[in-house]
Amino acid sequence: MTGRDEEVFTFMEEPSIPANHSAVPAWRILLVDDEPDVHAATQLALKNMEIEGRTLEFFHAYSAQQAIDLLQRHDDFAVALVDVVMGTNDEGLQLVRHIREDLQQHAIRLILRTGQPGYAPEIDTIRQFDINDYKTKSELTQVRLFTSLTMAVRSYAQICQLESSRQGLEQILAATTQLSKPAGLKKFASGIVTQLCALLRVKAECLVCAATQEPGTPSYILAAAGHYDSWIGMSLHDIPDQRVKSHLTQALEHQQHDFNDGISLYFPGRGPQALAAFIDMSAPLQDLERGLLEVFCSNLAVAFENLQLYLDINDLAYRDALVHLPNRNALVSAIDAHPSGKNAVALLDLDNFADINSILDDSYGDAVLQMAAARLRDSFSPETLVTRMGSDLFGLFGPAEQLTPQRIAQVFATPIEVSAGDPLRLSATAGLVLLKDTQPGVAVLKNAGAALKQAKRFQRGKTMIFEATQADAARDRIQMLNRLRASFSEEHLFLHYQPFVSLDNGQVVGAECLLRWKTPDGEFIPPDYFIPLAEQSGLMIPIGEWVFRTALKWRKSLTGKVDPEFRVAVNVSHVQFAEPDFVTRFLAILDDVGIPGSQLEIELTESVAISNIERLSTRLDAFRARGISIAMDDFGTGYSSLSVIQRLQVDRLKIDRSFISGEQSVNDCFGIARTVIALARHLQVATIAEGIETDAQRTALLASGCNEGQGYLFSRPLDADAFEQWLANWQADYQ
Ligand code: C2E
Ligand code: MG
Ligand code: MG
Repeated sequence: MTGRDEEVFTFMEEPSIPANHSAVPAWRILLVDDEPDVHAATQLALKNMEIEGRTLEFFHAYSAQQAIDLLQRHDDFAVALVDVVMGTNDEGLQLVRHIREDLQQHAIRLILRTGQPGYAPEIDTIRQFDINDYKTKSELTQVRLFTSLTMAVRSYAQICQLESSRQGLEQILAATTQLSKPAGLKKFASGIVTQLCALLRVKAECLVCAATQEPGTPSYILAAAGHYDSWIGMSLHDIPDQRVKSHLTQALEHQQHDFNDGISLYFPGRGPQALAAFIDMSAPLQDLERGLLEVFCSNLAVAFENLQLYLDINDLAYRDALVHLPNRNALVSAIDAHPSGKNAVALLDLDNFADINSILDDSYGDAVLQMAAARLRDSFSPETLVTRMGSDLFGLFGPAEQLTPQRIAQVFATPIEVSAGDPLRLSATAGLVLLKDTQPGVAVLKNAGAALKQAKRFQRGKTMIFEATQADAARDRIQMLNRLRASFSEEHLFLHYQPFVSLDNGQVVGAECLLRWKTPDGEFIPPDYFIPLAEQSGLMIPIGEWVFRTALKWRKSLTGKVDPEFRVAVNVSHVQFAEPDFVTRFLAILDDVGIPGSQLEIELTESVAISNIERLSTRLDAFRARGISIAMDDFGTGYSSLSVIQRLQVDRLKIDRSFISGEQSVNDCFGIARTVIALARHLQVATIAEGIETDAQRTALLASGCNEGQGYLFSRPLDADAFEQWLANWQADYQ
């Protein structure tokens, strides 16, 4: 016991900190003894004593049961001085068992006392019930009693601190797992503030917490309590208190704690991230407190690192790794968080991405997606959240005035450049929802998805706004399809013909046949609307054959009225190409009508051209073998790369009318037309420009080397009779 006594003396020599009776509660001491004299003597011996600046408050129990009653009422006894022998020889021991096992009170320190040495508890019992001290009553002089009690109280305080530190850690760990980004780091920092306050028993007034991110980016105040509260979010540089500022800056710079003139703590994170906390504590720290604080900090550093790991994982859950945009989860959460009336959500799908992806290897497709993502990001202000939903589908959420069909149309107005000198023209189809009421993100996306689906069917390359009535649209479509079917069988579909004119000499070199549908009530339905309907329903196959036969017959009817090279151009849909017996059936029709293949041209759209290049190539070979020429329609709006053009041995490129017509044609888009023409010449492929409406356009195209043209400047599409009439007039003018 000698060593212990020395230790006791050390404690006793410490200056005792003056008690602040109003602020600091007394230590609660429970005296359990069946002899009232012992109570009186003990209280007298310890009268006016203070431990660590706190007075002692005594509670008296004369039996184990009374002690239990008191313990149940107060769970903050620091020490119980327990007589072993009371009513029975081991009543005191039964009591300590009850305290530890039944009441589960582990912090309270226990000092056993007995009148007779023979009743000393076994060493095992002392260990098992965490008994601090055992003394015979005669041993307990005033000094001994005081030193024993002091040690017990200190031990109790330490346990409580550890317990609060444990609770603090638990809370911080709970914060790391429960909180999601971006609130995670902030909540974690406020957790530090709260826990440090509890740990050091200081008012929540005195803490701030700053975080540093990447080198070069300013540190800022993440959490603060009390009157520092208004500093939250401020840059560390800007905080008005020089002392706090230099403490936090030093901690972050020197990467260590500092206990002089206030406490600053440093928590290293992963990589460049770190946290620093400042506690405005003027009283010097006790060694124990300091030790505890250091343990707490190192535990916290582990928790901080875990938090960052968690944030990274969170990042994975909320960000798309390929294009570095937030993902679908992030979009749903964002919509859920701000369901305001002024916002809109768009789902945007790249047209024919599957085809692009199949042109070259996957890395090409990845590069296209990355460029598309970057283009989308650059096209809207940071207020608009741009996300990748998967594959080639992107989700946008932002102010309605930004997410307009016009703005969306502009995104891919200019081609992207996947590799230097290899521009790729993208187009996208979008579904747009204007948010009106509070609706969950998932429901909003469903509506945007419905609008996108509609747009893909009927307005490819454009944006369709979701209307509540859109659900009815599906029903309307079925009705429309039934009407189309009826019109087809009742022979209410017919063809119009639009001439192709040689730009240099005005000669009529052919005509495109364009399908028309006039409903019984006299309404013309545009082919852009009903052809996709027919394609989806399978009706396109018989319609396509009918168009083919009609066009060929019409061509035959022109024999003698036009040059033998005059060609009739027929648009062929991709669903027709997909039919296994397509070639055989078409060639059979050609034979049946009986005109040479050279009088026929097939117009493919670029999407057809890419869907299955092998199969397409063989099918086109069979056509070519019969002298039929192949034109690539709407060139420039799709994705055909030059290699595809060469591979398919296309005879002619039809430059899409969007590059020719319209107000800006001569200035903006005309450059693309000019490039296409130059390119075609280089590949020895002929060109024809669609949609020529003005003579200026005609002249410009001619100057650029374009061979032929089609458009309202020459003639609108006309029925067979009107065409012959027009032809006669035209020839009269040009001969
Ligand atoms: P397309 O093959 O690119 O046809 C050219 C379209 O441009 C036609 O529209 C024509 O009326 C229009 N156009 C011609 N000149 C001008 C002009 O100077 N200015 C303007 N603004 N437009 C002009 P249309 O007849 O509405 O046909 C639209 C599309 O429907 C066609 O585009 C074609 O893809 C498809 N289509 C038409 N008939 C058939 C068919 O029989 N089979 C298939 N599969 N598709 C067809
Ligand atoms: Mg065409
Ligand atoms: Mg076209």
